[in-house]
Amino acid sequence: MMTLRQAHLILIILICILTVKSLDAASLEAYKSKALTPVKYSINPVLKPMLLSSNGTAKAVIVIPEQSNHSGYYKKIANIMKKYLDQATGADFKIVKKLPPNTKGIFIGPCAYPAVAKLYKKQKSLGNESFTIKSIKDGLVIVGKDNVSPVKEGGWKGLQLQNKYAERGTLWGTSDFLERLIGVRFYMPGKLGTIIPDLKRKTVSLPAISYTDKPVYSMRLSGYGAKNKPGYYRDSALLNHDRKESYLWDDLLRQSDYKHQMFQHSDSSWYKAYAKTNPEYFALRKDGSRELGKRAGHSTHRCLSNEVGFQQHLQNIDDFYKGKLSKNEIEERFSNAPPMGKYINWAPHDGFKGCQCKNCLKLMDGNIYSRSQCSRLIWGYAKKLAKAIKQRWPNKILRVPAYGNCRILPKGFVISDNMFIMMCKPLGGAIGLLKEPKAWNRSIKDLDRFINQKEKPWLYSYYPQSPRKSGNFPYLAPNVLKKFLTYAQDKISGTYRCGHYTFSFALDSTIYYMYAKMLWNPDLDIDACLREYCDLMFGPAADEMYRYFIIQTDCWENTLWPKFKPVLHGWDKQWVWTLTYPRKVREQLKTLLLAAKAKAPGNTLYSQRMDWMVEGTKAFFSEGDFADFTKISQTDCPPLAPTINGDLADWQGVTGLVLTNNQDGTTTGDKTVFYTAHDDKNIYIAGRVAQKTPFHAGSKKIARDSNVWLSDSIEIFICSEQAGLAEALMQQTDQFHQIIIDYRGVVFDGYKSAMTGEFDKLINFDFQYNMKKTDSGYDFEIAIPYKSLNTIVPKNGTIWNVNFYRNKHIVAGKFEHQAWSPTGGGFDQTSKFGLLRFSDSKMIWKIDSAKVKWKIAVKEDRRPAKKIDGKMVKLTQKIKDGKLFLRIRATKMLTGLTEVIFNMVPSCRPNVKVSGKPSFKFAYNYNGEGLKRVRCAFLDTKHGRPSKSLRYLEIPKGSGPVMTISDKRGDKNKNNIKGIDAFMFALKIKPKADFTFVLDAAELYEENP
Ligand SMILES: [Zn+2]
Repeated sequence: MMTLRQAHLILIILICILTVKSLDAASLEAYKSKALTPVKYSINPVLKPMLLSSNGTAKAVIVIPEQSNHSGYYKKIANIMKKYLDQATGADFKIVKKLPPNTKGIFIGPCAYPAVAKLYKKQKSLGNESFTIKSIKDGLVIVGKDNVSPVKEGGWKGLQLQNKYAERGTLWGTSDFLERLIGVRFYMPGKLGTIIPDLKRKTVSLPAISYTDKPVYSMRLSGYGAKNKPGYYRDSALLNHDRKESYLWDDLLRQSDYKHQMFQHSDSSWYKAYAKTNPEYFALRKDGSRELGKRAGHSTHRCLSNEVGFQQHLQNIDDFYKGKLSKNEIEERFSNAPPMGKYINWAPHDGFKGCQCKNCLKLMDGNIYSRSQCSRLIWGYAKKLAKAIKQRWPNKILRVPAYGNCRILPKGFVISDNMFIMMCKPLGGAIGLLKEPKAWNRSIKDLDRFINQKEKPWLYSYYPQSPRKSGNFPYLAPNVLKKFLTYAQDKISGTYRCGHYTFSFALDSTIYYMYAKMLWNPDLDIDACLREYCDLMFGPAADEMYRYFIIQTDCWENTLWPKFKPVLHGWDKQWVWTLTYPRKVREQLKTLLLAAKAKAPGNTLYSQRMDWMVEGTKAFFSEGDFADFTKISQTDCPPLAPTINGDLADWQGVTGLVLTNNQDGTTTGDKTVFYTAHDDKNIYIAGRVAQKTPFHAGSKKIARDSNVWLSDSIEIFICSEQAGLAEALMQQTDQFHQIIIDYRGVVFDGYKSAMTGEFDKLINFDFQYNMKKTDSGYDFEIAIPYKSLNTIVPKNGTIWNVNFYRNKHIVAGKFEHQAWSPTGGGFDQTSKFGLLRFSDSKMIWKIDSAKVKWKIAVKEDRRPAKKIDGKMVKLTQKIKDGKLFLRIRATKMLTGLTEVIFNMVPSCRPNVKVSGKPSFKFAYNYNGEGLKRVRCAFLDTKHGRPSKSLRYLEIPKGSGPVMTISDKRGDKNKNNIKGIDAFMFALKIKPKADFTFVLDAAELYEENP
């Protein structure tokens, strides 16, 4: 059935064909593109197409208002128009205030010309930010609804091009004109991302077209690469544009917010004003201290039930309105969020964990961070504040984000009529994850809780920033985004796309562009848009690139993760590599990319864009390779309190972490071993550095934070748990502490902040270390207080991402780099770090595979076990890096299931007493086919019959790829176990089995009393 709309379109096309036939054949047809947001246009059959240029000569002029309150604004728009018309046609378009006789003009804004003035006046009734493009006898008019900011934030005077809080309809009309009528595209800032059609050697005319348009969403603001400095996103060096180009691109993509104005957390600088005089204003910690901002930003929060602090808050607002505060004082009292226009802003800072005072605790729900942990506390304060504001400033509105641990409103909470709440929904915000039905359902439910407000709220969208922090993979979900923006158009006023340095145009440009377009109008034809993107950006390589993006979109949107949970960290990065983009898919994508590269001719924009794509997506493929082949190192960090004297005697029994080549994980010549341990104040790191040749000082400097890495040295990277990270949607691996110590004891240390993305070597840690010379090198011991890392004190089970390295000089300027968890590249690739698990259990025994001898038997189902003889099962064993490698092959004689049983010979057996609760770890991996089941047992044979045991049983999932299964659990019997004196493990195998089994670890632990 034909819809009215389709009928309308056909009519337009008919008119169009008729018109074009009778007139100039060179009339531009860019407006026919289906890749733009749709508009209803008409072509005037009476007017002739307007001649624009011929063979590089301008045949029309640009006309701007003679007099206007905002002349500068229209002049700048005219300059933009001229810039792109000149570039496309090779002509020199004049900007004039009066139309010369017998000339046609492009009229921009309220020009003193009757037909234009009439249109401009009418525009005021056509909706916010609307614009009209209309062909008239003397040319073509572009007018829009232009108003200065209703927010009236300080600093903006009048209507300016880059005032995002103003209605800039005429600018939107101009951008639409350039796109729709000329065929320009603004995909990315700078030359590589701008498409300008080549009309230089043509006679070009514009169709007699007319249409009006306006955005669906008013909040279309973005914090991405665009308006920020170049270098703010991952591949900025490859795009190589300047800041001006960023601003221009941001404007021409119509990213704006004419009525709100963004704001930030408002309490984060209070400590500067009140820490000394009024510590009672600040949140109480469990240890009785207060959060006074000793480490700036995230280490200061308020006590929200302190009445004097509340009165201070009101006083500050009053002082602000009375103009009593200096610029500095405004910053201290409101941070970046002073009152703006009709809004009074308030938000606790990132990482607010509540306050431990009696009154605040009553309003908190538990000590575990959740989306409602501080809902009653924060919304209670907000309600009280709104009430006071109503009395004192009845025209003002209190603006608060539902953020962090108050994302959910308390039960029965009624939003005050002078309160405006914005939503920060990690899942709704990470729109790529809404592909999961569970995430979609929960987000929609959440959304509905906030829509009952006087003003439509907006959403903080972390897409496409998130889930980028989990890895450099693409998550193109344009159809999901379209579904969401179509659903939400009556409910929210739009989204603020929270920008971040993890953004990458090479991975995200298509979705970024479509997102901007769909905020304007979600009816965008996604497929047409993508196809055109590929055609215009990659020319001869378009087919390959189109397929490349289609495959990515399909994989991301249509691969559902069976174990997904709709909570903040409810998914596993590994699913991306195994389910969404398995190796086969990545190979296919890589092949397409290389084929596209081969098709793009040398030294053209097409080939430059392919270079950018290939270079900018390298991390995606290398991280995938890493996920396929490399096992993330893991270790337990046991309890211990060594003396920091450089002597390793007190480290007996702690598992050593042997460093391997950072490039490929191979064994190194000179060995390096690290050890870790902890108590309730410090993490301890020790190690043994062996070197046959003399140590080398590549840097003569001995000052702290000098070029220490140029000398033979060890490096420690720690991504620890930091307060506020999770709330800010950051991950532990977005930041790290780095310590380098060279063989002389010279130190380099610093911290990379998740918030700024920048490394600061001026931050130093207060740690203790000592070194001791040995026959083959040196030993070292380091104690790093948690306090100096500003970290949350780890508990049993806490995991930190850490890595240990060694820089070993080979010849001048050349190093061998060793690592505990090899990254294959830079030391700061935190996603490849090993996992350090804090354990309160003490290891009391571990296998030493190099020394153990086994009694090996085979046992067929329902038959007694017998000594292995090679008839049914062939077995070879070897020891490599201290681990037991078993190659097991079934012969043709094996027809049913058989178990190969490994018992320790008596002289090798463990002999340990147990006084607490024992548990164990048995870790292995295997590669090959035919392993059906693995079991193991630690036995107490001496204390009563039958023997008591700690047992482990596992059915390995799948077969073929390398698997690591590690567990640590005990039997119900374990309370009665008094000692362990035997250990066995057994592998049940199938006919035709052929695999290698590696015993990684067998360890026995006892909980600390
Ligand atoms: Zn309190």
